Amino acid sequence: MIQVIGAGLAGCEAAWQIAQAGERVVLREMKPQRFSPAHKSPLFAELVCSNSLKARRLDSAAGLLKEEMRRMGSLLVACAEQCAVPAGGALAVDRDLFAAAVTEKIRSHANIEVVDGEVTELPAEGPAVIATGPLTSETLAEKISALCGGSLSFFDAAAPIVTADSLNREKIFAASRYGREEAGAEGAYLNCPMNKAEYETFYQALIEAEPAPVHGFDVRDPKVYEGCMPVEVMARRGPDTIRFGPLKPVGLRDPATGHRPWAVVQLRRENQAGTLYNLVGFQTNLKFGEQKRVFQMIPGLEQAEFVRYGVMHRNTFLNSPHVLSADLSLRENPALFFAGQILGVEGYMESSASGIVSGRNAVARLRGGPPLILPAETMIGSLLRYVAFGGTADFQPMGANFGILPPLETKIKDKRLRYAAFSERALQKLAAVIEA
Ligand code: FAD
Repeated sequence: MIQVIGAGLAGCEAAWQIAQAGERVVLREMKPQRFSPAHKSPLFAELVCSNSLKARRLDSAAGLLKEEMRRMGSLLVACAEQCAVPAGGALAVDRDLFAAAVTEKIRSHANIEVVDGEVTELPAEGPAVIATGPLTSETLAEKISALCGGSLSFFDAAAPIVTADSLNREKIFAASRYGREEAGAEGAYLNCPMNKAEYETFYQALIEAEPAPVHGFDVRDPKVYEGCMPVEVMARRGPDTIRFGPLKPVGLRDPATGHRPWAVVQLRRENQAGTLYNLVGFQTNLKFGEQKRVFQMIPGLEQAEFVRYGVMHRNTFLNSPHVLSADLSLRENPALFFAGQILGVEGYMESSASGIVSGRNAVARLRGGPPLILPAETMIGSLLRYVAFGGTADFQPMGANFGILPPLETKIKDKRLRYAAFSERALQKLAAVIEA
């Protein structure tokens, strides 16, 4: 028997995969006795916000992710197709029908027993899959945190991430402050230089941009706020505050002018392959559309492709690269697997996809078989490698995007064709795994 804790998106996928493999599952869910601040429905697999599961197109990261899931026998993708509502190129669902369809499939499966009630202790015996989500109840979150030596975050204050391919390298220069390059790490930082006029225009747009509502924690809490102040809030303290903070130009000389710029936005590598960069010090609570509008005013970022926007919200997630193995079990206690947003993926379908892999690996552990580790060329494999092996010291959750896949052997300039080639390669690799 395998326990799954949490009947959200990841927990339902994990339970389904285990049950379909012929093993018994006990699925524990605290609803309807207890609800998180965002959950309202007594049904499983509740979509707490948007009803969109993003693009269907195969030449999009979200489309590829769903296709891989479908080929791996995903319950949630099948239910979503049944409950789809018209949404242009996206797969959007009637959220009540969707949750009802998933709940019915789970409750009627002969191998699944559902047990109601909040879990407050970690399972003493494994294998077990923990899929309690970004709003894991406090008592359980404390137990998980203690087991992981405190490697659990309770809120997310992240800066946007852009693809390296989309940067205008004619304006941007590579350099670390005062030329302090680590051996072998030349160009660890990319620098977007601003002159006085560019800075003043950007500054005005930044302080006037529209913020998003904050969910799940009190922004006035000094513990939360001072440690990760949004760049737009810092900017409102005075016209030069960010020029003496994250945009300080000291120790940098623009090779194009031979001078120190008036201000500099630094970009730091997000992954080893150097395909993704984050905007240093730009944690933000602006609306996504406003982030695109204002941050594309930064010289060199005019065409920047944002694979993740900055966010500030309550989000319980593990520092996975420090605590998880490649099969998504805990290094300290290999009987415990994690799935969903709590392991550091971001998004409905990403959470569900990780449930497929964790569920299958819990079965493998029970049977003493080899773990399922998907190839890096697949979207799910790449996402879970990012989570298990990490991008940077400051680990932040990640959603599906082509920037995390290994580069293609031949460069393809056209974006649409490049993405189609990524997808074709991914599905070929996945087919080989499924066949094996
Ligand atoms: P969940 O779907 O939250 O499932 C966790 C389940 O565990 C819940 O049913 C919960 O009741 C249960 N649980 C928690 N603690 C316990 C316990 N101790 N014992 C038993 N059961 C427990 N992603 C998107 O793609 N689009 C969006 O629009 C979007 N909006 C979001 C809005 C908010 C406010 C939040 C917090 C997240 C949002 N996300 C969104 C991110 C993420 O995709 C969702 O949170 C997603 O539901 C995560 O799936 P999950 O399975 O990890 O967790």
